[in-house]
Amino acid sequence: MPEFNIAPYVSHIEANRSIKDAVMEKLRSRRPPYRVTVTDLTNLKQAYFKRKHPEITPPLEKQQLMWKGTGFHKIFGFAVSREEYLEQFVEAEGVVGKIDIYENVPVEVKTTSALARGRSLLQQRPTYIEQVGMYCAMVNVGEGEIVIYERQGAEESGTVPLTAYHVAFPDLEAVREEMRHRRDLLIQALISDDPSNLPVCAWFGRGCDYSAVCDCSTSSVSSSHKIAELAGKVQVDEVTRQRLLDMLGKPKPPRQLHANDLVFPRKAYFERRKSVETVSEGKVAEEQGEYLRSIDEAGFISALKDIIRYGSPGEVENMPVQYASLSDLVRLRQGLPTMVRTPKFQSLVERGRLPSAFPHYFYRLGFDCALTDHPKGRLFLYYANVSEENAKMMVYDVSFRNLGDIKAEAIRRIELLEKATSVAQLPRCPSWMCRYCEYRDECVEI
Ligand code: SF4
Ligand code: SF4
Repeated sequence: MPEFNIAPYVSHIEANRSIKDAVMEKLRSRRPPYRVTVTDLTNLKQAYFKRKHPEITPPLEKQQLMWKGTGFHKIFGFAVSREEYLEQFVEAEGVVGKIDIYENVPVEVKTTSALARGRSLLQQRPTYIEQVGMYCAMVNVGEGEIVIYERQGAEESGTVPLTAYHVAFPDLEAVREEMRHRRDLLIQALISDDPSNLPVCAWFGRGCDYSAVCDCSTSSVSSSHKIAELAGKVQVDEVTRQRLLDMLGKPKPPRQLHANDLVFPRKAYFERRKSVETVSEGKVAEEQGEYLRSIDEAGFISALKDIIRYGSPGEVENMPVQYASLSDLVRLRQGLPTMVRTPKFQSLVERGRLPSAFPHYFYRLGFDCALTDHPKGRLFLYYANVSEENAKMMVYDVSFRNLGDIKAEAIRRIELLEKATSVAQLPRCPSWMCRYCEYRDECVEI
């Protein structure tokens, strides 16, 4: 049987400018928070100017990094903890905050570029310690954890670039006292329209968005890390690190089929088998590193999806699809199956070439459309590596012909995945993937 090719089923691709403009506006704008947050208290001057100059927004390049961080700790949290302990909202001393993971002690998860060896966390990232110190004070627990994933360290082989630090705060009342002091300084400055009493931020002079309006060149109040200094010993916590890595390396129970498995059937075959096999220790470390990298990537996409969705109540609904062992949710936005993807390309792909450049996007969108009986779907492409702001995001409305044939192929793939006893019985994944695939040596006929 000849291999199914999705490209001839794409009947029309139209760039949707009005949706693109509306979403770009959302990506650019940042609503100023109305309440004082823990993050505000780590950088008072920036918190002041954020409120006074909501028209100043960081370039998307910078926001991408923030989305990556937000998305990472959310997905990482799910991998190592449980829903009831994640993203716990806390409020005390007129300050609000969200603790990434809070089971017994507050855990703050951070992603960063590589940390310099031989320098303490206090010297390099005092605000991380300040943040966890404030959470400890807010929930009245004298110790916390900081978990750091070093993105650049991910490229070094043989190590999993994850570090846990245990931090004790012997005097929580002193932390609360300093929080009240900072909160009052910020509120006073906002009321009097005068930021001169606010200390300059920790990253003073390093490409801040507010440098054009900030008074820091004349300000005489130097930055303070009093809360970080109130911490007792900051110790590398090998036990917690290992516990987290064990959670990441835990064999997962055989899972149900998802729509993406139909796009990458051979990969799905190997993944499903792996979940019931035991793996060697070296392999586990390699997989943990790979898993963290994939969390980082998935985190970015998830944060981006959240922003695209934000502020559009009722516009988004999830439609369940269930065929034999396939069980998934198709996201409909404004009534259309919608996908958000972040190609790594340095320049935009012309619309006529999209199905050949990104066949996997069209397989997935085609299957989502077919399984929900929608002849048209929408594809958001966010090119993170394109520097020109207006070219970063493209929105395409994609129409498919012969939906019944696409649906038949989806169902055929589900059945094959259920019955296959050898990978050779399954359609190949898109060929560009094979070069990077961990199953390359086991996969036949590639
Ligand atoms: S310019 Fe400097 S002091 Fe002012 S808000 Fe930015 S980082 Fe803070
Ligand atoms: S080698 Fe290619 S076809 Fe085989 S599982 Fe990997 S990506 Fe899929």
